[in-house]
Amino acid sequence: MAVHVENYQKLTNELAQKGATLVAVSKTKPVEDIRELYALGQRDFGENYVQELIEKQPQLPNDIRWHFIGHLQRNKVKYIVPFCYLIQGVDSLSLLKEINKQAQKIGKRVNCLLQVHIAQEETKFGMDEAELQEALASREALTNITIAGLMGMASFTEKTKLIADEFDYLQQLYLRARAQSADLGFQVLSMGMSGDYRIALEHGSNLVRVGSLLFGPREKRS
Ligand SMILES: *Cc1c(COP(=O)(O)O)cnc(C)c1O
Repeated sequence: MAVHVENYQKLTNELAQKGATLVAVSKTKPVEDIRELYALGQRDFGENYVQELIEKQPQLPNDIRWHFIGHLQRNKVKYIVPFCYLIQGVDSLSLLKEINKQAQKIGKRVNCLLQVHIAQEETKFGMDEAELQEALASREALTNITIAGLMGMASFTEKTKLIADEFDYLQQLYLRARAQSADLGFQVLSMGMSGDYRIALEHGSNLVRVGSLLFGPREKRS
């Protein structure tokens, strides 16, 4: 068995107690692994690469909720808008506008999370506070998008205090944005991965994105 069933069951119990959603991150993993978790009842899956996602999606059941959690290039938006359940990691207003445009073309409303840069590493994507405010302020004009919440990735470090501070910062931004908007669709705070999801839950995360704990370690992409 490729999938860590015991970890899956423990994790889903833990998350059920907190009322948090699990997105199983299946990037680089074969469709057989996804089917295995699907058979156990998992429906939310996360992928990082457009090409990989559009190859897997047609091979798998229709009721899977696909979350795009990677860095999305504008020219690839059109491939995933038709079937994506939630596009996380929207890290610029121009990307948001492109998603809106493609959604309009097919008469769909697309759920998005805005990604905020909370880590110390430069390599991670995301908006700063000013860009976030600008994106939130533009939402009236984006008729085919629901901004459903925020997403963030903490620094990759052993320093739990630093991770906690980063998640706390995102939680504050989230609470402020939610209070400012009468928009009931704004309700997702996506943070936490295999190594730090417990810290994220302590800071109000209600959606965790967990890969290696469920599917085992990934091969490094070249
Ligand atoms: C790969 C990835 C995850 C899952 O990471 P694990 O450490 O394997 O749980 C979560 N979120 C994002 C954005 C990712 O790219």
